[in-house]
Amino acid sequence: MDKRYVLAFDQGTTSSRSLLFTRDGAIAAVSQQEFEQIYPRPGWVEHNPVTIWETQIATAREVMAKAGATPDDIAAVGITNQRETAVVWERATGKPIHNAIVWQCRRTTEICEQLKADGLEQEFRARTGLVVDAYFSGTKVNWLLDHVDGARAQAEHGELCFGTIDSWLLFNLTGRHITDYSNASRTLLYNIYERRWDPVLLDALGIPESMLPEVVPTSEVYAETTALGGSIPVASMVGDQQAALFGQAAFNVKDSKNTYGTGCFLLINTGSEPVPSEHGLLTTIGWGIGGEVEYAMEGSVFIAGAVVQWLRDELKLISSAAESEAIAAEVPDSNGVYLVPAFTGLGAPWWDMRARGTITGLTRGSNRAHIVRAALESISFQIGDVARTMKKDFGEDMTELRVDGGASANNLLMQHQADVLGVPVVRGETLETTALGAAYLAGLAVGFWSDKDEIRKVWKEDRRFLPQWSEDQRQQALAGWEDAVRRTRSELG
Ligand code: ADP
Repeated sequence: MDKRYVLAFDQGTTSSRSLLFTRDGAIAAVSQQEFEQIYPRPGWVEHNPVTIWETQIATAREVMAKAGATPDDIAAVGITNQRETAVVWERATGKPIHNAIVWQCRRTTEICEQLKADGLEQEFRARTGLVVDAYFSGTKVNWLLDHVDGARAQAEHGELCFGTIDSWLLFNLTGRHITDYSNASRTLLYNIYERRWDPVLLDALGIPESMLPEVVPTSEVYAETTALGGSIPVASMVGDQQAALFGQAAFNVKDSKNTYGTGCFLLINTGSEPVPSEHGLLTTIGWGIGGEVEYAMEGSVFIAGAVVQWLRDELKLISSAAESEAIAAEVPDSNGVYLVPAFTGLGAPWWDMRARGTITGLTRGSNRAHIVRAALESISFQIGDVARTMKKDFGEDMTELRVDGGASANNLLMQHQADVLGVPVVRGETLETTALGAAYLAGLAVGFWSDKDEIRKVWKEDRRFLPQWSEDQRQQALAGWEDAVRRTRSELG
């Protein structure tokens, strides 16, 4: 029977989605369901794991119905997921002992402060490539064991399973308790150098090893699922940002991608060796295929598309995000206006959480278009800062930047990005690179695509933005930006 599709599960923070991809990388159908965000207290965020599973499987059934597909048409299922979100469930019953604690949840900030006070920050960083922060799963698991009645005793008796969302979905699909390298590398428990759960870190967080999933390759047939009717192999699990890197066919060292959403996630493929950062960037596993593991360096920008939302919702300078492009294009440049959207502080390489936003360089002639343009340019300048930081740590420049996410549709922004970076910015035909990455990885495991070379050919370019600034222009623009950033720093204010 000829298999026509790979089915990707894209389990995100606000919705569960399912997509069917054809052999030429096109989307045959999409289905999506939003689900409830649970905020028990300010700064706390939870999801109901059962709802996550039910919405995910419901969208899979819907997408198959839309395309008129049966299980026989589907070569494999691939899973990509919101990262770091922690679920703990009973091995015997499959019942969660508590809601999932979402990556955004800040409830374990104090646990992180305690780990730092105990002098453990360096231990964690040197073993996991991450920073000690409430964002990652480890302290969330510690919290669950301490706050759910009887949980610690149950865990010590081997009765509980911990997993990130990939692992939770796979358990429901197949009954196996496993996770992949990319997701394991976001837990704050996994030693990315030795590639094993780290006994020192498990001890520091009081987590019994028996509750951890086995770590398996990112692309491999894990088991067959019958949850969708007939039997279908489940053949990839991959964290969303790493999935996007793979979905952009960024397979070689120095290949990189940036996703322009509410915030930005920039990842560069660093090859078979992890590269530690001296500047607060994250070292992470991209994927493991066969016996090979490839690493990535990751930097994020907190406020990216969010600055466009702010122009629309708070300043009311634009009526839609898309309109920002036409308004910014009314002027040839920002005429010396710089906007630094340090609404929640400054990330890499500044790490100044008390910094707050500013607009500099205003004159009597500054108008709406200059401010809108400066806001868009703040996105590309911030990515430029992260890219330069990566270069300091990695010693290599990216070859080109592949882009996706909602704001990558903005041509003016993409051109400015190419100018700031001095390398080509390349937008692919599909902006659904996260789901596509999971599909590629699953498809590779079952021979739907034969190898990475075939995927490189499947990946199609939409548009390429070439740098147009002279080196002088670039230096001048960066100097203006850095001056504006300096004015937002908390020490000066
Ligand atoms: P997320 O997954 O974080 O919700 P999306 O990938 O859906 O983000 O992108 C939405 C973000 O991109 C919003 O912050 C929005 O303001 C911004 N955005 C969308 N379209 C444009 C555009 N044409 N120009 C600039 N920003 C845009």
